[in-house]
Amino acid sequence: MLTDTFGRRFYYLRLSITDVCNFRCQYCLPDGYECDHDRDFLELPEISRLARCFASLGTEKIRITGGEPSLRKDLPEIIQACKQTQGIKTVALTTNGYKMPEHLPAWLDAGLDAINVSIDSLDANQFNLITGHNKFATVMKGVDMALAHGKTKVKVNTVLMRKLNGYALDQFLAWVKNTPVSLRFIELMQTGDNQTFFDEQHVSGSSIKATLLEQGWLPSLREKTAGPAQEFYHPDYQGTIGLIMPYSKDFCNSCNRLRVSSLGKLHLCLFSEQGLSLKDYLQSDDIEPLRQYIQSTMGDKKATHFLQERLTGATKHLSMLGG
Ligand code: SAM
Ligand code: SF4
Repeated sequence: MLTDTFGRRFYYLRLSITDVCNFRCQYCLPDGYECDHDRDFLELPEISRLARCFASLGTEKIRITGGEPSLRKDLPEIIQACKQTQGIKTVALTTNGYKMPEHLPAWLDAGLDAINVSIDSLDANQFNLITGHNKFATVMKGVDMALAHGKTKVKVNTVLMRKLNGYALDQFLAWVKNTPVSLRFIELMQTGDNQTFFDEQHVSGSSIKATLLEQGWLPSLREKTAGPAQEFYHPDYQGTIGLIMPYSKDFCNSCNRLRVSSLGKLHLCLFSEQGLSLKDYLQSDDIEPLRQYIQSTMGDKKATHFLQERLTGATKHLSMLGG
């Protein structure tokens, strides 16, 4: 089992398979994707070895992310390879939803267990303004398809922004009333590239938490492979609400995840100073050297990120690493 010096155990791997994205979310890639490196993304055999190695170290859940992971044509094969790895119980995907209506059936056939779709507004014009794409109806169609399938967990990620959606809690709650999704509000995080935007738009999730509690929402228990969200449910609502508050005290105490970038670098934290290249180790089917290397890095994982001190490490934007 992968354990760090603070006793935290890592059951959960966030695996980025590309840093390319077709959206221009204002907090992430406001000017669109620009490539500043060779597109030497992890290939399927490397991903299979990585999954096998992490599973042998106790990983139970892999989330495939990006960039926009659905831009990779071999996404179904990647899902299948992760799902067929002994020890991996859950394969999840985080997507902007753009390709869901077309490709969801293939992802489900490949064994996808859970899907997170990013929807920052339930208003089509505002969605367009935030993402740079007039694709609200397409994304919502994908969400409806996933819900209709019935066997996949559907979560919606909403980044909280003071002026762009901070006023829309009632609209989100009305949606969740009759829609069985887990809606998670994520506090905007500062990255190397978004400092001015962050200063204008960051808002804490604590006022939403207070409103939920006032309205009779109740806290849920946390599973060991769960994300960092504080989850709430309400007997009168089909959906649930999660709050991800990375600036809150002790947020990192429950960290249970590691990250690998699409270039094959291990990141011990979303905001670490550098990634540790696994590429050379991934060229052989013998995973033992990779296992030993990953284990040897655990002592370097810091107790917490340093976002409160406005230190964002090497992370220019989350498309680099997948959030
Ligand atoms: N393209 C996919 C998507 O948007 O779902 C996957 C990658 S995206 C980087 C993963 C998640 O990170 C999305 O839910 C996105 O909204 C969130 N995200 C990106 N930048 C963020 C930031 N600066 N602060 C908080 N969340 C952010
Ligand atoms: Fe693309 Fe996701 Fe970043 Fe939006 S948040 S620009 S969809 S990577």
